Amino acid sequence: MDRTLVFLKPDALQRGLVGEIISRLEGRGLKLVGMKLMRVSEELAGRHYAAHAGKGFFPGLVAFVTSSPIVAMVWEGEGAVEAVRCTMGRTNPVEAHPGTIRGDLGIDVGRNLIHGSDSAEAA
Ligand code: ATP
Ligand code: MG
Repeated sequence: MDRTLVFLKPDALQRGLVGEIISRLEGRGLKLVGMKLMRVSEELAGRHYAAHAGKGFFPGLVAFVTSSPIVAMVWEGEGAVEAVRCTMGRTNPVEAHPGTIRGDLGIDVGRNLIHGSDSAEAA
């Protein structure tokens, strides 16, 4: 079975969408195998998003994910990485298809609710 890292960003908790998002992933047939409510340090945020260091949105991204707690999770299932990414929808919610988490629940690329690993190595 494949596993992937997901975290619900501060906007998901602030807007009370944790249950809704978990339901969508469960409904897809994925299995929740780990979950932790946590604060992200600047050091961890910088390491997690190292690939984006130097980009214009990087400081705002780090400030956002460290601003209030997140829910970090591990989800398991056949093709879990791809299944989560498809269920999340495109990075910019404006372009995300209806039926996806970002396409149904957001509009702002800097407040796109959820992170899912983009590869098994990243997970
Ligand atoms: P994530 O890594 O958070 O799951 P993603 O893989 O869909 O999202 P990435 O390209 O890895 O997208 O970008 C990481 C995050 O940086 C995005 O989720 C988004 O919040 C933010 N981001 C990306 N591009 C922009 C942009 N042009 N303006 C503002 N924020 C951006
Ligand atoms: Mg990414």
